[in-house]
Amino acid sequence: MKVAILHSAHNISIEDAPYPRVEKDGVVIKVKACGICGSDLHIYRHGGTEGTVLGHEFSGDIVEIGANVTGVTIGNRVTAMSGVGCGKCYWCRQDQPIRCRNLKLLGYQIPGAFAQYVSIPGFKIGQYAALLPDNMTYQEAALAEPLSVALYAVMKANPRPEDTAVVIGVGMIGLCIVKLLKTFGVNRIIVSEPKIKRLNLARESGAEVMLDTTTVNVVAKLAEMTRGKGADVVFECAGLSTTYHQALEIVSRGGKVELVALYEQPITWDPSTIVMNDINLIGCGLRWDLPGAINLLQRKEINIQSLITHEYPLEKVKEAFDTQLMSDDAIKVMLIP
Ligand SMILES: [Zn+2]
Ligand SMILES: [Zn+2]
Repeated sequence: MKVAILHSAHNISIEDAPYPRVEKDGVVIKVKACGICGSDLHIYRHGGTEGTVLGHEFSGDIVEIGANVTGVTIGNRVTAMSGVGCGKCYWCRQDQPIRCRNLKLLGYQIPGAFAQYVSIPGFKIGQYAALLPDNMTYQEAALAEPLSVALYAVMKANPRPEDTAVVIGVGMIGLCIVKLLKTFGVNRIIVSEPKIKRLNLARESGAEVMLDTTTVNVVAKLAEMTRGKGADVVFECAGLSTTYHQALEIVSRGGKVELVALYEQPITWDPSTIVMNDINLIGCGLRWDLPGAINLLQRKEINIQSLITHEYPLEKVKEAFDTQLMSDDAIKVMLIP
């Protein structure tokens, strides 16, 4: 089968690989669509481990089923995430391997879905895996993973409808957060972002105020808009030192700052700010409510198909990664094997 192999930074190519082996507790899926995630880009930029097969935002058809898997049949359309733990620690014993300290994750240590077929160990419908409704496209279903990341972020921040919410950085996850905040009844949504295309999509997604960071001083503008109080909740989705500090500056005393992005570089900062301003600093990661995300999409409570800006065949994997990395217009680039 064809598979995209990452060799070093910016060096990814299509190669032949053996058809993957099905695990007893897993399935093999014929991949129909797989999106490029921010974390894929991060590894593409820096190189990662030679031979890595990236890709974890995908959907496809089940073609093989392990002996211990129940509830699915060959041909079922599904989406899934997979994490395999050590099997012995507290979290593994609680059936939450995703919190295991020796976690192996799909698209990182476990070969991912930028391939014609992918083996998914630990496949369980309802837990990091979901069946697709008949009328849902594979592309839309592949967006369930990023949507579920945003869903967890919003649920963990638990905003009130009367809150002023700021989303710093509106790429895929930031835009999903804007859309979800609307469904949570939050009306005062402010976004800050340097790219025009993204600001326009944020408006279409329900944001009330769009701050173009190339021309606006976000800290001063937020102080003015909230009469010095600051935002009740800030979602930091940009992952830069400047935006991290900005988040701490624009949040209200007693407010919440949630870190959603991964940071390219370590940051030097003074934790006293958190203490003095009584800030709730929240991290969120490694949670995938894929059935919940599929449900939201199916009920049409949220429409994210318009966030797919580019599609490429698997053979053009390098072009796809470079587009996601460099094009100002790229929100979600999708590969179709
Ligand atoms: Zn992702
Ligand atoms: Zn474990």
